[in-house]
Amino acid sequence: MKPILLQNTLNNKKEEFTPRRDGVVSMYNCGPTVYNYAHIGNLRAYIFADVLKRMFAYNDYDIKQVINITDVGHLTSDADEGEDKIESGAKREGVKVQKIIKQYTDAFMDDMKKLNIDIKEIEFPKATEHIPEQIAFIQTLDEKGYTYKTSDGIYFDTSLREDYGKLGNIDTKGLEEGARIEKNKEKKNPTDFALWKFSDPKEQREQEWDSPWGVGFPGWHIECSAMSRKLLGNQIDVHTGGVDHIPVHHNNEIAQTESVTGKQFVNYWMHNEHLMIEGQKISKSIGNTVYLRNIEDRGFSPLSFRYWLLTSHYRTQTNFTWEALEGAQTALFKLHKHFVEEYGTKNGEVNQEYGNKFHEFINDDLDTPKAIALLWDLVKDESIPKEDKRSTLLSFDKVLGLGLDHSNKKLVTLLSGKGEKLEIGKLPKTIKALVDEREKARKDKDFEKADELRDKLKEKGYEIEDKEDGPEVHKI
Ligand code: AMP
Ligand code: ZN
Repeated sequence: MKPILLQNTLNNKKEEFTPRRDGVVSMYNCGPTVYNYAHIGNLRAYIFADVLKRMFAYNDYDIKQVINITDVGHLTSDADEGEDKIESGAKREGVKVQKIIKQYTDAFMDDMKKLNIDIKEIEFPKATEHIPEQIAFIQTLDEKGYTYKTSDGIYFDTSLREDYGKLGNIDTKGLEEGARIEKNKEKKNPTDFALWKFSDPKEQREQEWDSPWGVGFPGWHIECSAMSRKLLGNQIDVHTGGVDHIPVHHNNEIAQTESVTGKQFVNYWMHNEHLMIEGQKISKSIGNTVYLRNIEDRGFSPLSFRYWLLTSHYRTQTNFTWEALEGAQTALFKLHKHFVEEYGTKNGEVNQEYGNKFHEFINDDLDTPKAIALLWDLVKDESIPKEDKRSTLLSFDKVLGLGLDHSNKKLVTLLSGKGEKLEIGKLPKTIKALVDEREKARKDKDFEKADELRDKLKEKGYEIEDKEDGPEVHKI
């Protein structure tokens, strides 16, 4: 067994991984709030979790993985203020809450599949389907004296936990000084957070439940404590999320769970850095949000986005640009082209030297940039027989997930950015007429008209390329 080193946010050190149970890893990844599409920054969090899971599998572990679906209780500010994102999402679109939840959960699953993440191997509990567990959890905290009531809900008293804020060494004293700007005057400490919120009598909520404290809904943090305990037990191996979750959400999860169980909740806390877009934070107010469907609309494959992400380490802040994505797609296209056109269909042996290096890189806190550089060294290495190259690449791809196991000519064409090549004879009549008209214009050397017609075809979703023996048409 090779050692696995993981950067643990709990003590800010790279540590050797030891599972709680031999051969098994329990992992919880904080999941999406399904009030909108997941943006490409959010998707980084799940690609990171997927590579982490694949790395464990590569090291022969069985993995129990849970990603929660937040469909209630996440307010517009992480500090328990503002509207419930799900309820306001439904208002925004003028539909029922159930429709919002279904639409964006389905969209999330589609995105995951497109990114080559196997959703069948993951459990996706929904917060609204675990209300009794959350109420029971709060009741236990209540019995142990960790809660107090205000006019708008039941709160957790963080001053009762000596070690509150231990994850990422949060400066809670500093926060106390900032308390003057604290909006909720009834909170005893600025870091206290809602476990249960009462429905606002002035507002009509679609999702609310009875509880021992009154009608309302759970706070956002309690779902993760209650559902991870139910599905993975009191103590788990790995818990992940984006770095934005460190100061509030994850410290609150720790406070809740450790107060109930009296044991250390998570052994390895791991956090991915943020994805930026054109140098800025992804934000609705800047209007720079990019979704996976925008990437596809521009003719890129979701796999190219995955490849691009893996060329940076998950702990580095990365800047997304369309040029960078184009570069990634070109590289991935070359990889698949070599694989499909040169390495045959027979399997050879995994090359030991490359295999060992790869193993070392990914076990070193998921060093995917080094792993990808190694992959190109292998592709270029002429001393390796092609069937061995094939097998070695397939073994690398068990972790990287770049789709080599289902690569074929069609995928190569797709990655070439041109889309599928179409038979001229089988084109829709109106399209064929435009292609013919353009061919005539070209023959007549009326290039201006030919260009106009090319643009017209493009608008309709067809790309035309002039080859020696006539035009070639692709779907964009
Ligand atoms: P949310 O749906 O807001 O709860 O976020 C889902 C996941 O995406 C969480 O793990 C966040 O920490 C993570 N996340 C949010 N923004 C970014 C970003 N720009 N880059 C990387 N991860 C992010
Ligand atoms: Zn969570």
